[in-house]
Amino acid sequence: MTTYTDSIEKLIEKLTRLPGIGRRSAERIISYILETSRDEVKSLAEAIFRVKESVRLCQKCNNLSEQELCKICQDLRRRKDLICIVEKPSDVTAIEKTGNFNGVYHVLLGSISPLEGKGPSDLKISGLIERIKQGNIKEVIIATDADTEGETTALYLVTLLKPLGVKLTRIGVGIPMGSNLEYADASTLSRALEARRDI
Ligand SMILES: [Zn+2]
Repeated sequence: MTTYTDSIEKLIEKLTRLPGIGRRSAERIISYILETSRDEVKSLAEAIFRVKESVRLCQKCNNLSEQELCKICQDLRRRKDLICIVEKPSDVTAIEKTGNFNGVYHVLLGSISPLEGKGPSDLKISGLIERIKQGNIKEVIIATDADTEGETTALYLVTLLKPLGVKLTRIGVGIPMGSNLEYADASTLSRALEARRDI
């Protein structure tokens, strides 16, 4: 039988639903909550709720944003004729960390995975085609992961985008096969971007 109070048990149950949080971590978080000031805990709870209330997808690139367009799409210094396609918002963060990319993004919000029953219709692609069709795009870099799903997605994108007559490139050199973009270190990713090849 548990020696915790009902409210603590309830919070443990809620926290252990979070990714990467087991019962032991939940207990440590609760110790922190009990020891810290009331104001600090209140602002933590409010910060969590605020993310949920205010974060949405950029209307142009599907990156996370609190406005209609994300900070990158709004930035006048970024090259709008260079689009880098990635699977998820955390990949945008990974590429931004390299400091070696001055274009804009298109986030697919997934990858093609027949095993998980996910096909092209589960990806955010139509907006990308619109952006390319509007013209003035000099290059589209396909930066999906180097795993099976990422490569399948890249192949699909090539068949889809090639007929639009836009220059397509693929990063990859230096990214170990089977690895996720977001786990590659900044210098590896930076080299992979520089060494992108035409496809
Ligand atoms: Zn955007």
